[in-house]
Amino acid sequence: MAWERNVVLKSPLELEIMREAGRINARALDAVRQAIRPGVTTGELDKIAESVIREHGAKPAFLGYPGPTPYPATINSCINEEMVHGIPGERKIKEGDLVSIDCGTVFQGFVADSAFSIGVGEVSDEVVDLLKVTEEALSLGIKQMRNGNRVGDVSCAIQQHVESRGYHVPREYTGHGVGRQMHEGPQVPNYGIAGRGMVLRPGLTIALEPMVLVGTPNTRVLRDRWTVASADGSLTAHFEHSVAVTENGPLILTEL
Ligand code: MG
Ligand code: MG
Repeated sequence: MAWERNVVLKSPLELEIMREAGRINARALDAVRQAIRPGVTTGELDKIAESVIREHGAKPAFLGYPGPTPYPATINSCINEEMVHGIPGERKIKEGDLVSIDCGTVFQGFVADSAFSIGVGEVSDEVVDLLKVTEEALSLGIKQMRNGNRVGDVSCAIQQHVESRGYHVPREYTGHGVGRQMHEGPQVPNYGIAGRGMVLRPGLTIALEPMVLVGTPNTRVLRDRWTVASADGSLTAHFEHSVAVTENGPLILTEL
């Protein structure tokens, strides 16, 4: 399939540029994290991310991204049952919300893509557990991103952890290669069979992004035609890093 053909291995120099793109993206996400509190609007968070990215001579990767309508913002902001692709705006964040922020940066022609979820103020035990399991799933997936492993090893590690805790992964939304394009091959689902799929080689760069739903694996797209939410209205969480496979193991590109 086209996804698998669109796989581009990066040189060490290109990985250095991607690391810088990742650092800028991490700074933007960190600034958003600091600003998340009851009363702030998702539109205000969007402006914060955009200004950090532009201050560093980079550009928002999501802005204008093709879809049902060109994507209108720098971040995706999702609250509670919203999982990915939420459009920021006038909505105010409230105490107890589970907020997910996804952000992409283009620097010197390369894209960084990363996301985090966070509870606002006092949150339920369910929120705490969901956040923990989703972040753990990302770490376990990253650990599998080794020379000679296969895509299925990464996918399987994520799925097994999530399902062992009684949660679900969606089938329609996946991780992906990342580089000069935000979405390259290979596709990296959050479910799969160990030992199957493309072999991972040094220079491969993947945006790994476990999305986790409490109720069922099913999702629905809201009326804005962008926001993806759990079909049953149950909570969801999302963590993402862009990660390179190297001779020395996985290299996380999108941390500070
Ligand atoms: Mg993302
Ligand atoms: Mg992504």
